[in-house]
Amino acid sequence: MEQKQKQKAILHQFKSQPRLPNFPIPNRYDLHLKTDLSACTFSGIVRITLTIVDNTKIIVLNALELDIHGASYSNSNTQIYKPSDVLLDEEDEILVLVFDDMLGVGEGVLEIEFSAPLNSHLKGFYKCTYVDGGVKKNMAVTQFEAVDARKCFPCWDEPALKASFKITLDVSKELMALSNMPVFDEKLIGDVKTVYFEESPHMSTYLVAFVIGLFDYIEETTVDGIKVRVYCPLGKSEEGRYSLSLAIKVLDYFTKYFSMSYPLPKLDMVAVPEFCGGAMENNGLIVYRENLMLYDDLHSSAKNKQVLAICVAHEVAHHWFGNLVTMAWWSDLWLNEGFATWVSYMAIETLFPEWKMWTQFLQQTASGLVIDALEESHPIEMEIHPARSIDDKFDAISYKKGSTIIRMLQIYLGDDKFQKALSEYIKRYAWKNAKTDDLWAVISEESGTQINLMMDSWTKQMGYPAISVKSSDNTLEFEQSHFLLSGQHSDSQWIIPITLSLGSYNKQKNFIMETKFHKVDISKDFADAKTTTTPETIPNTGVGNFWIKVNTSQSGFYRVKYDDKLVSQLRNAVENNVLSETDKFGVLDDAYALCQAGQQSLSSLLSLIDVYRKELVYIVTSRLIHVCNGIVNIATEAIPDLVFELKQLFINVLQFSATKLGWEPIPDEDHSSAILRGRLYTALASFDDDKTHEEAMQRFQAYMRDRKTTLLSADTKMAVYLAVIRKATVSSRYGFESMLQLYREADTAEKREEILRILAACPDQDLLVEALDFLVSDEVREQDIVYGLAGISFEGHHRAWKWFKDNWDPIFNRYGANFLLTNFVCDIITPFCSNEEADEIEEFFATRPHEAVAMDLKQSLEQVRIKARWVEFIRQDHSLPDLIKKLAAKGSS
Ligand SMILES: [Zn+2]
Repeated sequence: MEQKQKQKAILHQFKSQPRLPNFPIPNRYDLHLKTDLSACTFSGIVRITLTIVDNTKIIVLNALELDIHGASYSNSNTQIYKPSDVLLDEEDEILVLVFDDMLGVGEGVLEIEFSAPLNSHLKGFYKCTYVDGGVKKNMAVTQFEAVDARKCFPCWDEPALKASFKITLDVSKELMALSNMPVFDEKLIGDVKTVYFEESPHMSTYLVAFVIGLFDYIEETTVDGIKVRVYCPLGKSEEGRYSLSLAIKVLDYFTKYFSMSYPLPKLDMVAVPEFCGGAMENNGLIVYRENLMLYDDLHSSAKNKQVLAICVAHEVAHHWFGNLVTMAWWSDLWLNEGFATWVSYMAIETLFPEWKMWTQFLQQTASGLVIDALEESHPIEMEIHPARSIDDKFDAISYKKGSTIIRMLQIYLGDDKFQKALSEYIKRYAWKNAKTDDLWAVISEESGTQINLMMDSWTKQMGYPAISVKSSDNTLEFEQSHFLLSGQHSDSQWIIPITLSLGSYNKQKNFIMETKFHKVDISKDFADAKTTTTPETIPNTGVGNFWIKVNTSQSGFYRVKYDDKLVSQLRNAVENNVLSETDKFGVLDDAYALCQAGQQSLSSLLSLIDVYRKELVYIVTSRLIHVCNGIVNIATEAIPDLVFELKQLFINVLQFSATKLGWEPIPDEDHSSAILRGRLYTALASFDDDKTHEEAMQRFQAYMRDRKTTLLSADTKMAVYLAVIRKATVSSRYGFESMLQLYREADTAEKREEILRILAACPDQDLLVEALDFLVSDEVREQDIVYGLAGISFEGHHRAWKWFKDNWDPIFNRYGANFLLTNFVCDIITPFCSNEEADEIEEFFATRPHEAVAMDLKQSLEQVRIKARWVEFIRQDHSLPDLIKKLAAKGSS
């Protein structure tokens, strides 16, 4: 056979395989890398200790975008074998080494020499830049999750193939090198410093990491003697103080919660100037983007304080859930992300109870419910092949639905049983890998409750149920059906832990709904209610203030659809403020979803919104604003003539809480009031409330005159910026130019983020294009595009789409190689509301490469078509114009 044909045949047998062949198993990597930050290159030698379990002439492992300079295999008898062929398959991301002789069973060492440029795509081993003393400098950072360790060194890049890593880095003598383990030696030869790190315990390749650059650091030691260091940009180490104190606290918390010590000798956390995601839990070396690790007490908002706390807790928690016990394959990604999300809220709830994180957790649940109501959703557990297709599954399903069903299970079993079961699971699978079924088996065994069937119904099928509840003759009738916003149905059913409250939180009924229909006798509760409540408010019910709320505290992952009588009782209960904040959130959020799905009219949703006028609780008001924004978006298409009145109505609804809170922080107010203030005034600014705009402009001008003014607080700054930018036009540029000036003078990532979030929020179409051009200019880091696109104004999305089409090539070239292209798809496309536009978008992408964003594109298009259907419902709602005018005329309370 011709040499080329022979090679082809060899490669062919390894094409499109779900996993690497398992006859050699890696045990230990000895990796020595030389990096050159000025030439932006690296080269290395990796010596991998293997066990060959079956005679073979071929070794297959992962490698991508590497130049291979040589390879050899030596067995335990020190016989050395050189491969006759070294084949790289870029498509399958594998390196195939073909030997003439048989490599016998036993231990041996595979040595490979390689080199590559440091890439600039924020994946694998990449370079990023920062400015130190006016000089632009390079830094080298790794980001391997999910499958990019192979871009740095040849390896068996699968989570189940754990091995120990002994890492050595050659760096320029003035630089600092960090890796998973502590440094045990350093040698200096000329200008090159060789840094030797201790050998790691067994871990997956995606958790290997190194960072090379210049930093300042601060450190503390936990009560268990773990040294924690926070590495910050030069001169900014004090901004790491808050994250450091958090890390110390959460390490202690998780050690106790999981009854298992932190598994490594040290923990480093480092903020880098460019990072594709938010943060990455590399074993012992967590990497953050700067604004998720650095905190400045004077200038940072209350909201940021909390975002940071959740982020630090999430990454540290991975050292148990993910790093110590690792999913066997990417199909169980949610075991990492769902658990880290859930446990981060629990840790912060315990450490800062006044923040009410379990209440705020509902925002996670709500986002999960939105995506999982799409036909283009996916199950929590899913087939992942090829491995790279995991990249777009770091999504609301894995994180948000995942964490919510854990919360649901925790509440169902009780905290103590759940905690005991989890610590047993961690103990049993420490340093190993596990599947979802392994977790359910341990929990069932430890809790004495068989949960497999119930949990399978949540993890193995996509979607969730809507529970219809009807009251008749002292009975509640429940029916479950798959809830899809498109109005479609499937036959899926779930095993649902149902909770309900009957007129009081002291009267609860819980049961497991295992079938499509279920009945509950409430005659006794009903009789009690008659004697204990006053009968004046609900017509035709005779039960006064009685109410029934299903899914108490919104701890379940489902929607509830009540009959008319139950709806009016609940509306009354909201107005009388007798429901908990979580339930007020739930009543509104479910009604909004039912309305989007065409199962409830917009008139009835607006009547419900009307009873939230006196709301002062952050989480409820925040959801109210979310719903109002959604309605303005749809109304722009469905009833454009009524948008002004609608905005007026929403301004009135929010006025009560805005007046109560005021612009200035109130001494000793709680944390959530500070967050609510910012959220409220931002909403009022977005609805173009004149009073808010005037006040904001005065505060902004004062700030432009004097950056130290107290008129612009950290919590209301965004609202002020938004109001100012909404007044800016191409001919009246003050607001826009001032924002650019503030952006250019900003000395922290957080300050830059604040500007980027509002820059494209101007209604003026031409100015919007200038803003969009700026967002993709060299002045804005690639990673920060996520902030800018999320801010595009209601009025601007048609123009933004045109701009996107006109600039597709440069955008694809710059953002196509990492997750960031997704943001263009989601933020620009999702606001559309018509089938014609959906068709046009589909047509545009049909001829362009979009594999990396395929799932997000499908989901965005489905959301557009759902809204198109909703628009039709709204246009048929003939009572709407009068109702909107009537409610808008009510003024503020
Ligand atoms: Zn995570």
